[in-house]
Amino acid sequence: MTVRHLIAERVLIEGDLVPAHLEIDHQGAVRRITRLAPGQAARHAAIVRARDVSGGAGMLRVPPRLVVLPGNVDSHVHLNEPGRTSWEGFATGTMAAALGGVTTIVDMPLNSIPPTVDVPSLRAKQAAAAGQTYVDVGFWGGVVPGNAEDLEPLWEAGVFGFKCFLLDSGVPEFPPVSPAQLREAMTRIRGFGGLLIVHAEDARTIDTATAALGGQFRKVRRYAEWAATRPAEAELTAIEGLLEAVRETGCRTHILHLAAAGALETIQTARDEGLPVTVETCPHYLCFEAESVPDGAAEFKCCPPIRDAGNREALWQGLQEGLIDMVVTDHSPATREQKYKGAPDLSQAWGGVSGLQVGFAAVASAAAQRGIGLEQVSRWMAQRTAALVGLSHKGRIAVGCDADFLIYDPEQTHVVSSAGLAHKNPISAYDGYEIRGTVVGAVLRGVELFSDQDSTATLLSGGEQLRGPGYSAGRPARSEEEVGTR
Ligand SMILES: [Zn+2]
Repeated sequence: MTVRHLIAERVLIEGDLVPAHLEIDHQGAVRRITRLAPGQAARHAAIVRARDVSGGAGMLRVPPRLVVLPGNVDSHVHLNEPGRTSWEGFATGTMAAALGGVTTIVDMPLNSIPPTVDVPSLRAKQAAAAGQTYVDVGFWGGVVPGNAEDLEPLWEAGVFGFKCFLLDSGVPEFPPVSPAQLREAMTRIRGFGGLLIVHAEDARTIDTATAALGGQFRKVRRYAEWAATRPAEAELTAIEGLLEAVRETGCRTHILHLAAAGALETIQTARDEGLPVTVETCPHYLCFEAESVPDGAAEFKCCPPIRDAGNREALWQGLQEGLIDMVVTDHSPATREQKYKGAPDLSQAWGGVSGLQVGFAAVASAAAQRGIGLEQVSRWMAQRTAALVGLSHKGRIAVGCDADFLIYDPEQTHVVSSAGLAHKNPISAYDGYEIRGTVVGAVLRGVELFSDQDSTATLLSGGEQLRGPGYSAGRPARSEEEVGTR
C-alpha cells in the first residue's frame, strides 16, 4: 500500500513518542505532522477518512500497542555483490534489512569484487544493485595503497566516505594502508571535505598476542581464547595512532565497530581536544559476552572480537554518556563453507556476524532491560547514522524528511530462528536468542514494505540508490548507468 496518512498513538517526533497524524506527499516525504491528543487517534482517523475525497485510501491506522519510529539507517553493511554474491547479495541482504526495520543501508567497499576503490568499480557496484534492492542503498569508497588519486573522483561520483584498514582486512584485494598512506589519504579527504572510516586494530599487538598463545596455526575452540589473540590493546594502540593522524591532518574520522571499552578514555580525551572523531559499536558487542559463547561457535566470530561481560556493560555506559555515537550491525555474512572452515577451530573461520535483520530488535530489547527507551535506541540506529553520512532527509520523522518508518511491537516476544531469516546464508549468532519486541512493519518513502497487519502487503524492490554529499549534481549529462538513481 502507498501510505498517504499514518495515524498512531506513539510516533517518535523530536525525541518523544507522541500521538500524531503524518501526511505523506507523492514524492514519499512527510508533508505535514499534526499532533493529536492522547487516545484520539481512532476518532481522528474517522474524521480524516470522512473528509478525504478518496474515502481514506492510503490510510495506515497503527494499533495503539505499536510504535512508529524512523526507519533505521545502517551505515555499516557488507553485501558482497558483485564478486562474492554467494555470501549475500543485494536482493537477500536488503530484504533482510527491510524485515529488520532498516530502510537505508550504506554498503562497505570490500568483500565485493572488485572492491569499491575507483569510479569504475563504483559503477560496477551500482549496476549490480540496480533494480534488486528492497531498501535505499548508498556506497562507501575505499582507501588502499596506490589509489590516492581516485579518492576525489569517487567522492564526486557519490560515495559517502572512505574506509581503510590498518591491518590485514581478510581479503587480498583490499590491502591495509601504511601510516604514510593513511596520512596522504587523510590530507586529501580533508581537502575536499570528506569522511574517513577506519578499522582500527594493530597488527603487531595481535601478532605478539597470537605468538604468546601458541602461534597462528594452533587450533582454538574456546571463543575467549581466540578473542585473546586479538586483545583490547590492539584496538587501543591502533586508535591512539589514528588519533595522532587526525590531530596532524584534521580529517573527519569515524572509528568503526569499537569493541574495547578500554579505548573510551582515549576517545574522550580526543573529543575534549576538539578532534573531529565519531565512534560506533555493534549489536553483538552489546548483546553477547565472550565467556558464554559455546565452544567452536563460529557464528560469533568477528574482528575485533566480542569481549567479556564487564566490557559489554562499559560499552552500554559509553553509549549512554555519548562517547559512542551510534550502533550499526557490521553485517558481514559468508557461505557455510567459509564460516565453518576448519570447524570447530575458530582461527580458520570467516570473521563476521550476520546481524542486519535482527540487530535493531536485539539492541532495543537489551536496552529495555537496562531501562533505556526506544527514543535513545532510535537516535543511535537511525538519527546519528544518517547524520554521519550526511543523509539529512533520513533517520528522523520530520516535515520534509523521507517517510521511512519502522513499526514496532515492544511487547511481542520472539525467539530468533536463523532458518527464518531472509539472508542468503541464514547463519546467525542470534539463533535461539529471545527478544522482547518485534519489527512488524516497515515503510519506505511512503510505500509499505511489509506489514503484519495487512496480509496483502508484499515486499517490493523499490529501493533507490543514494549519493553522498560530495556528489556533483551539476555535472554534464548523466551517463546511462545513472538513470533511475538519485
Ligand atoms: Zn565491517
